[in-house]
Amino acid sequence: MRYRSTSGKAPLTSLRSAVLRGLAPDGGLYMPVEIARHSPEELEEFRRLPFTEVCYRVVRPFAGAEVPDEMLWQIVSEAINFPVKLVSLSPGMHILELFHGPTLAFKDFGARFMARLMAYFVREETRPLTVLVATSGDTGSAVAHGFLGVPGIRVVILYPSKRISEAQEKQFTTLGENITALEVAGTFDDCQRLVKQAFSDSALNQRAFLTSANSINIARLLPQMFYHVAAYRQLPVASVPLIVSVPSGNFGNLTAGIFAKRIGLPVARFVASTNVNDVVPEYLRTGEFHPRQAKATYSNAMDVGSPNNFPRLIDLCRNRLDNVRKEIWGHPATDEETLAAMKMIHERFGYIADPHTAVGVLGWEAYKREHPEPSQGLVLATAHPAKFAEIVQRAIGSAPPLPDRLAAYLKRDKLSLPMSNAYEDFRRFLLD
Ligand SMILES: *Cc1c(COP(=O)(O)O)cnc(C)c1O
Repeated sequence: MRYRSTSGKAPLTSLRSAVLRGLAPDGGLYMPVEIARHSPEELEEFRRLPFTEVCYRVVRPFAGAEVPDEMLWQIVSEAINFPVKLVSLSPGMHILELFHGPTLAFKDFGARFMARLMAYFVREETRPLTVLVATSGDTGSAVAHGFLGVPGIRVVILYPSKRISEAQEKQFTTLGENITALEVAGTFDDCQRLVKQAFSDSALNQRAFLTSANSINIARLLPQMFYHVAAYRQLPVASVPLIVSVPSGNFGNLTAGIFAKRIGLPVARFVASTNVNDVVPEYLRTGEFHPRQAKATYSNAMDVGSPNNFPRLIDLCRNRLDNVRKEIWGHPATDEETLAAMKMIHERFGYIADPHTAVGVLGWEAYKREHPEPSQGLVLATAHPAKFAEIVQRAIGSAPPLPDRLAAYLKRDKLSLPMSNAYEDFRRFLLD
């Protein structure tokens, strides 16, 4: 499979180079040149075959001849080694729990797959590949766990000292092995600046083999098709259209949903469920796209003012607003609505939703109000409620049970190294 840039000015390239580059040289995002549909017979088989086998069949065409069959099989089976659970709150409303991976959020799918694919692509390099990540919290842990123990790759995570929660910090600073956490005396913006400066330092890049692992990487997007397959396998067969509500920030998750629809999975429409950072719902309403500074909310993994997968989203709709509107309906929610929804979901269904999932439920309910014709709703549950225990406590009056995995990290010692916010210090560290 060849990959093209959404900006259309970069040459077609291989999956390997799309994955190691991240961003295309013309500033666009990489897209496969074609997305093939599976036949109805094969889709029917998807319900019966083992999940790993189906994931493998879904991603196989996107890798083409570049990754041998056995290797791709190994990558898929190692990456997706945790379940996707469907919980039906009512006959017409289902929750798809994507948070049973090591960091209790859906980003585990993308990070684990990307790490293993990158390791394969750099297997013959003599220099170790260094993955640089600046994090304000959750991306750091998903990426760190994704790459933990993967040979030939080291990960350097920069995070702002004293500006993230202890639970977040402990999840990626206690790992050791090939994961180094740098506790930067500065802000998240300082961390991002240091990483950017390193990538644009050509002398440094000749001596060190650097790459990034951010959410625009095509290798993070492809495995996010897997859970739409998981939903398709577990949902009761129904004659009414399926509406999928996706709690969204950078819109990688929703974009992957459209990929899944293009390969043939039956989804009638997606709901772009956001918090007050509503650039995309606003675009759907007015036709105008105005990125702006993000505002802080309870669903902080979606505090994105400039959604970076937007070019892919509209590319999949041939860059036409009317097509985008046919595919996606948008709904923003405030923090007050989110808290009230968490309380309602708990009282009515006995289910504890994290704030992101609650935003997804609000999107589905709003859709249903405006489209009363028969349909069933699927809400993607993107994070485990224990990751947002304080907000859950405020909404339902008690804290959610802490999963053993999270509790174990809290007991471990932090191994991060202190770093100033001066580029020279960071550069010296990378060359050591
Ligand atoms: C990253 C994240 C999102 C947003 O996903 P996008 O692909 O950026 O739209 C939603 N919920 C949680 C918990 C996340 O970590």
